[in-house]
Parts: sequence; structure tokens; C-alpha cells
Amino acid sequence: MSRTRTYRCLNCLEHTIDREFDTSHLSVTCPNCEAFERFVNEAVYRQFRAFEESPPPELDWERLDRTEKLVVAERIARSTKTIEDFAVVSGDEDGEGDEAESADDIAESPTPK
Ligand SMILES: [Zn+2]
Repeated sequence: MSRTRTYRCLNCLEHTIDREFDTSHLSVTCPNCEAFERFVNEAVYRQFRAFEESPPPELDWERLDRTEKLVVAERIARSTKTIEDFAVVSGDEDGEGDEAESADDIAESPTPK
């Protein structure tokens, strides 16, 4: 028996589809809004909604755009990372990883690349 996963359309946020594989998201044409859209794993979407309702204090949630928020939600929902881990590594997405003055924190959670 394979377990199906639910994916939700990010355009209308209403249509969901079920697939028998587990991935973070997929892109298909939504039969509801007819957009070729990204459908996110329902677990990711739930995490996203949870953060919308109570933003994590460790992150500058309100300043992220929706895509960035979903990336955060995706990483939290689909890995064992905690929000603290994420806050530590978020800096190097700005390309400022070179001037790691607080290298102590970073060394403790190496980013897999
Ligand atoms: Zn849709």
C-alpha cells in the first residue's frame, strides 16, 4: 500500500491533488484556476500557515516574500532542522557567508551543499 500525499495549488490555495510520491512540491496545471502552478506538499503548507498565524521570533518572517516563506516552511516541515538551525544558516543566502565573524555559531551546523 502506498500512502498518498496531498499537494496544494499556490495560486488559488484551494485545489489539492494527491500523488503517491512524497516530494516538497511539484508543478502542474491546476484544473481549478488553470494556472501552471507550484503545488506544495500539504505538510509544508500547514507549516507556512502556522508561521503566518504566529511568526517565529527567530526569523524576520514579515520581511520575507511568500516564496521565501515557503522555502522556510518547506525546510522546517521536511527536515529535522529546528527554527534555530535555520536562523543560523539564513545569513549565507545573502552571500555574506565570507565575513563570518561569528564563526562559532556557523561551525556547529554546517550547511550541506
Ligand atoms: Zn489553482
